[in-house]
Amino acid sequence: MSTIALAFDLGGTELRGALVERSGDVIARVSEPTMAGAGSDAVIGRIIALANKLLDDHPQAQVMGIGACAPGPLDPKAGIVIGPPTLSGWHNVPMIDILGRQFGLPVRLENDANAAALGEWRFGAGRGTESLVFVTVSTGIGGGVIADGHIYHGRRGLAAEIGHMTITGEGERCFCGNVGCFEAVASGTALGRQATRLTAPGDGSALRRLAKDGDISGRHVVEAALAGDATARQLIEAEARWLGIGFTNLLHLYSPDLIVMGGGLSNGFDLLAPGIRATIDERAMAAYRDVPMVRAELGDRAGLVGAASLILWEGEPGTALAMVQNEATKASTRA
Ligand SMILES: [Zn+2]
Repeated sequence: MSTIALAFDLGGTELRGALVERSGDVIARVSEPTMAGAGSDAVIGRIIALANKLLDDHPQAQVMGIGACAPGPLDPKAGIVIGPPTLSGWHNVPMIDILGRQFGLPVRLENDANAAALGEWRFGAGRGTESLVFVTVSTGIGGGVIADGHIYHGRRGLAAEIGHMTITGEGERCFCGNVGCFEAVASGTALGRQATRLTAPGDGSALRRLAKDGDISGRHVVEAALAGDATARQLIEAEARWLGIGFTNLLHLYSPDLIVMGGGLSNGFDLLAPGIRATIDERAMAAYRDVPMVRAELGDRAGLVGAASLILWEGEPGTALAMVQNEATKASTRA
């Protein structure tokens, strides 16, 4: 069996683990609810238990190290999860230290959106490009930037917080406290909220029927629009315009070879793409208008395979920063 990495994708609701080959192939996968409310010690205990299960089930696997991703803000270089809003009770948790000590293996940590960008770039829709922007549009909006063959990190690894760029001066207040964030106006959550506002329980609309008269989600809007519902189609048109405005900013900022759109709302990519493209054609400077935009290919394994590649493609373009504490971990486990 070829060399393998243990990969973890720690999400606010689901914790995923996998054994991943250098090719990006996932040879085993496990998942369970994160139960983030239990706090960091409990969740890390579950990560360790999942790792042990994967290792016990595949005793022949030559595991080179552990690649993990978690919601930001986190510091990939220091290996610290700083305090994501979706993981209650996490404050400056030294993930690399903890997992390195537990398993005696090198550990790499990356922001989940960056890891997904890396996954799509190495193994998915972005293969063969030098630079890309990955945008995930679902409950929120996140993203990662591959610039000239490397993840673009910025100070403390905090770059490319795409969902919180301001794209309008009004509208819903974002959870970050600001008004007019990309995420607050264009996420799947925002789309569902607008649909909920435009309809009423029991009004017989396609949107409310899909939502069983409850609150409407972005997914329902996509479904109704695909079925030809006029209200949903209008909502999709407005959504595409907001996405086009955001993507235009990304083109101007990063000049990627490609924009890759993932997340739950990418189920409606074919519906959204013409409106996004029209907005880019209208707003972007001419030199940026021919940049292709494609749907992500890897779905919910993008983060896992991207995190694994931090270990398996170490030292090659696109891998994490050199990490001093990892050398310290190796030294202490050898002693
Ligand atoms: Zn915000």
